[in-house]
Amino acid sequence: MIKFLDIQKITALRGDEINEAIARTVNSGWYLQGRENAGFEAEYARFIGTEHAVGCANGLDALILIFRAYIEMGLLKPGDEVIVPANTYIASILSITENDLVPVLVEPDINTCQIDPTLIESAITGRTRAVLIVHLYGRCAYNNTIADICRRHNLLLIEDNAQAHGCRYGDRRTGSLGHAAAHSFYPGKNLGALGDGGAVTTDNPELARTVRALANYGSERKYIFSYIGRNSRLDEIQAAVLRVKLPYLDDDNRRRREIARMYADGINNPAVTLPMADDGTDCVYHIFPVLADGRDSLQEWLDENGVQTIIHYPVPPHRQKCYAEWAGRSYPVTELIHERELSLPISPVLTDDEVRRVIDLVNAWRP
Ligand SMILES: *Cc1c(COP(=O)(O)O)cnc(C)c1O
Repeated sequence: MIKFLDIQKITALRGDEINEAIARTVNSGWYLQGRENAGFEAEYARFIGTEHAVGCANGLDALILIFRAYIEMGLLKPGDEVIVPANTYIASILSITENDLVPVLVEPDINTCQIDPTLIESAITGRTRAVLIVHLYGRCAYNNTIADICRRHNLLLIEDNAQAHGCRYGDRRTGSLGHAAAHSFYPGKNLGALGDGGAVTTDNPELARTVRALANYGSERKYIFSYIGRNSRLDEIQAAVLRVKLPYLDDDNRRRREIARMYADGINNPAVTLPMADDGTDCVYHIFPVLADGRDSLQEWLDENGVQTIIHYPVPPHRQKCYAEWAGRSYPVTELIHERELSLPISPVLTDDEVRRVIDLVNAWRP
């Protein structure tokens, strides 16, 4: 059986170092807001290329904290509109509504699965204050068009980098391209902890300070509370694990690109299209999506032959019960992606033989 993602194997790759880091933290007797967090934050900021990184409990919190901090700073207020891709993972949108901001869903480009830059400007109203781009599937969603629109309309540009750690745009990393970025270290992400974890990166010292305070009950000084905050911290054990894994991230991503190249060169079934095959950017392939009419039958075929796949995602946000008020809306490109998308196995521990087996099976499938 070829697993979609063999996390046990991924952890075992650096098992000794990880166990050592955990033991060091356990024995230190200090489990929150200590040296591991400080060390990881400095190392991660350097890696991403920002002045600041602030650890927090998970990726959703990182997004929520960014919007909340901008509200505290007076740059956003409830009711303001935030542009966001319609085909993103639900967390991007939850972070907007959680802050009583209004998501404005914009369709993706079918060829890239990323927010369509040509549709952003027409979605801007007098109440638009921010654009949340999502580097979905590990591909850079940022480009000069988007940066230019944000500049001209004076919009905050926020990045959801949960799926794209290590991705580059030119010589800069995603997570350093906008005003602030949210990162998730959920175990299955390209940089994954052994539990939940997240971070905010930014060059803005006031934003970093506000996020840090909000994540710590709203406190900047023990028992003195400036904001109505929450508890969202990255624990020391997770920070220690992430410090072990971060130096290997570029190598891991290189291997993902190699596998993506094999898929792109090998898959020639005319019923299957590869939206991420020919990416001019430095994609980190969190996911390798294919699009197929009859996707469910392709998934079944692969499953019967011992290949595990996942759909990202089966139901688009505007069709979810939690956003029932959007049920009547139509986002045809988003719906098409959700009907046709299937993610093939991709990870640093997948072998060439396994990749070849997946390719042969995809090519042998008949819709
Ligand atoms: C995983 C993910 C998140 C949320 O991260 P968690 O750590 O699971 O809270 C947010 N946005 C996107 C695009 C994600 O893939």
